[in-house]
Formats: sequence, structure tokens, C-alpha cells
Amino acid sequence: MERIAVIGAGVSGLTVANLLKHKYIVKVFEKEAVPGGLIRCRRVQGNLFHICGGHIFNSRRSDVLDWFWAHFDRESEFLKADRNSVVAFPDGRKVPYPVEDHVYLFPEETQKKVVSELVELASKGQGGAENFEEFLQKRFGRTLYELYFKPYNEKVWRRPLGTVPLSWLEGKLPMPSVQEILFNNINRVQEKAFVHSSFWYEKKGGSQFIADRLSESLDIVYGADIASLSFDGAKWTVAGELFDVVVFCGNLKDLPQMLHGVDAGGRLDFIDGLEYHGTTSVLCTIDANPYSWVYQPGHEHKSHRIICTGNFAESNNAPGKLSASIEFTDDISKEEIIDNLSRMPFHPEYIDHNYSRYTYPIQDAHTREQVAALKDMLAGYRLYLSGRFADWEYYNMDVAMGAAMDLCKTL
Ligand SMILES: Cc1cc2nc3c(=O)[nH]c(=O)nc-3n(C[C@H](O)[C@H](O)[C@H](O)COP(=O)(O)OP(=O)(O)OC[C@H]3O[C@@H](n4cnc5c(N)ncnc54)[C@H](O)[C@@H]3O)c2cc1C
Repeated sequence: MERIAVIGAGVSGLTVANLLKHKYIVKVFEKEAVPGGLIRCRRVQGNLFHICGGHIFNSRRSDVLDWFWAHFDRESEFLKADRNSVVAFPDGRKVPYPVEDHVYLFPEETQKKVVSELVELASKGQGGAENFEEFLQKRFGRTLYELYFKPYNEKVWRRPLGTVPLSWLEGKLPMPSVQEILFNNINRVQEKAFVHSSFWYEKKGGSQFIADRLSESLDIVYGADIASLSFDGAKWTVAGELFDVVVFCGNLKDLPQMLHGVDAGGRLDFIDGLEYHGTTSVLCTIDANPYSWVYQPGHEHKSHRIICTGNFAESNNAPGKLSASIEFTDDISKEEIIDNLSRMPFHPEYIDHNYSRYTYPIQDAHTREQVAALKDMLAGYRLYLSGRFADWEYYNMDVAMGAAMDLCKTL
């Protein structure tokens, strides 16, 4: 049997290792002390803390669902929930998500403006956007753009939306036509097209439960921060051991310094310029409410969303409290967090926070092409890339699993 080294025990590395373990001798190297990467959780004062986000699961791909449920007992280990999300506006109004389907809840003047803009867009055509700003204006009209899409997305992305290319958001963006928006408003239709309109969540342990289960029966070396991948013309040396194949599920940014014995011919040069965002996740207790996510476009504080993780599973809460994970883009100090929380709905009370430097990869118009060329070249050395920051793609867990499955089929 050939030997494969998998770098990283996040969702991608765990998927690759499980898929290949019967065909190869697989060894996983993980720099942290536990598996999970971005989906890691820990308990603080009796509350479950998703150290990054508030991960829920679903997928459009039936092969991913089949593979996933082969590892879990859906009925006894998971809860199924419907998304119940709102946009909390600074004036206290809470409009269900997505806002464009609930225009009838805005003041009459706003409704009239939105309808006339949508009618105008329908007659002019909505295609041909060059950037995110143009896309949003052509899809939803100027009024909804100014009210929600612009302020919300500027908080998330911290840059003018006119400078954001569209390619990196493909498949992530809602694409309702004017006809659908009007139809949904007239008929009070609840949006079901999103992949996470309904979702699965672990009864106990949050997404760490997924990582722990998927790492059972794997050979994983924890605390192994791999700094070098060295090719001698036939085999790879990783942490002093020889391997035939390497699957890299870490971060592209680290790759140029790590690689030895590879003639990259300039194909690594683009990596230095790749942009990304980090996230500060804040564990809080909040007032009782029925929501899963609360989106916050207002500029009176810097957080863009509250994930009411305490509503996902009762076991996430300390007795008598409801916990939540509140997100801020990039690094923000504890003092600033506490100051911002004082201006947010549902009276959040700070418990703990965590900053993750790499959470959102940002692509430009050339990134996919450049990553594809790099992957082609590395495949010649039997080094493969798979993962959110290895592929530099805005993957959800299920999409990361799907990408790992697609890769493994080719090995
Ligand atoms: C805020 C936020 C919320 C999200 N919410 C959801 C959600 O609700 N549902 C959903 O499906 N998806 C969600 N996602 C996406 C999801 O987190 C990712 O798709 C998934 O976790 C990616 O897994 P990965 O293995 O590709 O990467 P990672 O989780 O980043 O794993 C990479 C692993 O490699 C390790 N590593 C890196 N370099 C080295 C090295 N040199 N040596 C050894 N180990 C190394 C890291 O420690 C890490 O464990 C969310 C993402 C974010 C940022």
C-alpha cells in the first residue's frame, strides 16, 4: 500500500482521510491539539462556544449527504430545524430574512419605491453586473440596496462594494428575479431555495461532534505544525517520514515557504497577493428569542450577525440562559467588543471571544484560474490541494466535503 500524508484535520482533511483509508496507509498531521479547524468548539462556563461561526449542516449534493449520514445516526444524534432569521434594523424593526420577500412589512412609501424600482429593472433587464454593488442594485433596486444590502455587506467585507468582483461569490448569492420577488411578497411565500433554509444540528457538542466522529479510527498526529514538504524526485518527506502522496488541506499562504524540490515556474507567485478576512466570534448570553440568525445592517455597532446557537440545541446553554455567537469581521479588542455589545439587540452579555485570522478567502477575477494552474502543476508531483484555504474557495462544510470527495475519486 502507498502512503499518503494529509495536512490538516479540518472537515476537508478528515473527509479525504476517511475516503482513502482503505486504499492507502493514511497519516494526518494537525497543528492544533484537536480536530476540526474552523468547526472546533469548546465549552465555557457551561455554554458551547463555536470558536468560529455557529456551524449548521445541510447539502444540495446527495452523494455528500449519503456519505455524511453513513457516519452518524441522523435521528438520535441530530436535530432538524427550519431557518428562522431576521434582519434587525437600527429603528428596532425586525424583518424576516430574506428582506426582499418581505417588502410588505416596510412603510408604505418604501414599498412604493421598491416596487417601482423593481418594475423598472424588469423592463431594463438585470444582467451584466461588473461588481458586487452593481449586482445588488440590479437585483434588488436602489432602495433595498441602501436600506440593507449596502450597509450589511460593507460591515462584513469592510471595503466599498464596487471594488468587490463577483466571481468569488458565485453560487453563494441569491438570484431571485423581479417576478419571484413580487410573487413572494404578494403570496407571503417563505424562501425555501437556500441550502440552509432547513438544517441539521448536533444534539450534543455542536460541530465539534462532527470532527470528533470523523477523526475516530484515523491515524492523526496532533500538535504537528508541518513547516516543510520536501520532494526528492520520487517521495515526499513530511515530519521526517516518507510518503508517496501528499494532500494539503491547510492554507495556500503557507505553501510557498513549505515546498522544497518542486519547480513551480512562477505558479506560486500569485499567493502573496491573495486577500482574506478574519473573524472575531464572541460567546454571549442573550435574551430569549425564537431566531436562528439575526442580521444587523446598522452602523451603530460593528457586528454584522448574531447566531443564536442556544436555539439550535438546548445542550448548548448553561442552565437558565440562552447563548449565542456574535460575529465581527477581523480582529477587535475585548474592550471594543463589550462597548459594541451595549448597543445591540437582545442584551448580549460577554463571556469569551476568539479571533481566527483566516475565515473568508477573497478571490479576484483571476484566482480560480491561478489556483487551477497551480493544482495541475502540483498533481505532477502527486501533491494535491483540498480545502477552504487550500482551494481558496468560499466553501461551506458540505462543499468542502464534496470537493474532497471529487478529489479522492481521481486518486
Ligand atoms: C464564520 C464562519 C461560519 C461558517 N458557518 C458554516 C455553517 O454554518 N455551515 C457550513 O456548512 N459551513 C460553514 N462555514 C464553512 C466551514 O467552516 C468550512 O467550509 C470548513 O470548516 C472548511 O474546512 P477545511 O478543512 O477546508 O479548513 P479548516 O477548517 O481551515 O481546516 C484546516 C486545518 O488544517 C490545519 N493546518 C493548517 N496548516 C497546517 C500545517 N501546516 N500543519 C498541520 N496542520 C495544519 C488547521 O489547524 C486546520 O485544522 C463557516 C465558516 C466561517 C468562517
